[in-house]
Amino acid sequence: MIKVALLLGTVALTLGAATAPPQKVDLLIRGGTIYTGTMAPFVGDIAIRGDKIVSVSRHANVTAARTIEAKGMIVAPGFIDPHTHMGEDLASKDPAERLVPAFLMQGVTTAFIGNDGGGDPDMVKVLGRAKDSSVGINYAAYAGFGAIRAKVVGRDNRAPTPAEMTQMKGLVADAMCHGALGFSTGLFYAPQSFATTGEVIELAREAGKRGGTYDSHIRDESSYNIGLAAAIDEAIRIGREGRLPTHISHIKALGVDVQGQ
Ligand SMILES: [Zn+2]
Repeated sequence: MIKVALLLGTVALTLGAATAPPQKVDLLIRGGTIYTGTMAPFVGDIAIRGDKIVSVSRHANVTAARTIEAKGMIVAPGFIDPHTHMGEDLASKDPAERLVPAFLMQGVTTAFIGNDGGGDPDMVKVLGRAKDSSVGINYAAYAGFGAIRAKVVGRDNRAPTPAEMTQMKGLVADAMCHGALGFSTGLFYAPQSFATTGEVIELAREAGKRGGTYDSHIRDESSYNIGLAAAIDEAIRIGREGRLPTHISHIKALGVDVQGQ
């Protein structure tokens, strides 16, 4: 019933538009299969003026400065990829590499970097460099626990001193104040694996206080150390006690040992 109503609505709009003089637009994307994300896909036109979509319909009554024929192709809003390792590509000296065509060709227009605890916490550098050397995609960056711990504690298997803890908290806070999306960890990987849950909570809280998200490659996706279920419990605890939204990256039960968990 809803489908019929939507369809009739579109037909009525189209008929109404046919009698009016055609609108002038800058860009017409014609005849593609449109996925809006909120209704069933349909073949139609998208009209754009400036940087605004002015109509999405089965047939746009417009004259366009430029037309892209999209017959047989899918037209969809750009995808957001929340877990990538394209940081080095975006920092490349080669402009072609900075375009990240492999992502664009898949429809990804926004990506997160610095996942798994690998993100340089120097946001002035990470986010600022796109001003001078343009990149092909919108991106947001996490401050990475691995980079922070390596910088302050080194790669040793030991607890940080109180002074080192203060320094690490400062780096998270500073990253957040300069536009980081949040705090990421990869607790499976050394030296992050040397950290207790309590240490991670303290640092995550610095991100949480400033509106950040916690993003984690958990300590164990299988049966390598604490086990899958305990590692998920740990991520939830960090989110709860750190008081910030938590995202578990590439969540899975890895291997036959944890099948069905
Ligand atoms: Zn990962």
